[in-house]
Amino acid sequence: MQVRVFELPPIGTNAYLLSDSNRKEAVLIDTPQSAWQTIAPILEKEGLDLKAALLTHGHFDHTLGGEDFNRNGIPMYGHKADAALFSDVGAQLTRFGLPHLRCVLQIDHWVSEGQSIELLGRTCQIRHVPGHCPGNVLFYFPEEGKAFVGDALFAGGIGRTDLEGGDYDTLMDSIRNRIYSLPNDTEVYPGHGTTTTVGIEKQSNPFVRA
Ligand SMILES: [Zn+2]
Repeated sequence: MQVRVFELPPIGTNAYLLSDSNRKEAVLIDTPQSAWQTIAPILEKEGLDLKAALLTHGHFDHTLGGEDFNRNGIPMYGHKADAALFSDVGAQLTRFGLPHLRCVLQIDHWVSEGQSIELLGRTCQIRHVPGHCPGNVLFYFPEEGKAFVGDALFAGGIGRTDLEGGDYDTLMDSIRNRIYSLPNDTEVYPGHGTTTTVGIEKQSNPFVRA
């Protein structure tokens, strides 16, 4: 499985394009602004069929480009606890002092804690990791040893918990019980910044020790 990262506007959010060149399939993690315009030429050039857009959570910087995926018939996955965020992404902008844009996402598949789905011929396990917001999930590919965690955990940091629906103790529980319980060598792909591993964060993350 190949992983490509694109840091996209408006505030530098990672979208991850996962692909398997033998199967000619791809999956996108998160849909920031201009995500479709960024990856469509790659899909076209490499003949990849985009099977799903997996949303780690409903915040605007992860979802503002999502309508393009709805329009192109790409199945969207997200957690129901963020339904209100998905259903009015545009309204979040004004709360951040940004100009309002209309953006209403249709989620085709609600995911839940402990669920497994098959993507790219591999198992993808879903873990619910709330605290940054109610519906943050991570997508874990055990055969690949990779977890896409949204804004729950960063390299040397944690997601902010001061936004609506955020809760510090809930985030600590999520990280300790549902991220730090992954194998130490699991590669962690956060919604912002660089890749890390579970083992590195357990050892050195100043905000949460194992
Ligand atoms: Zn967020």
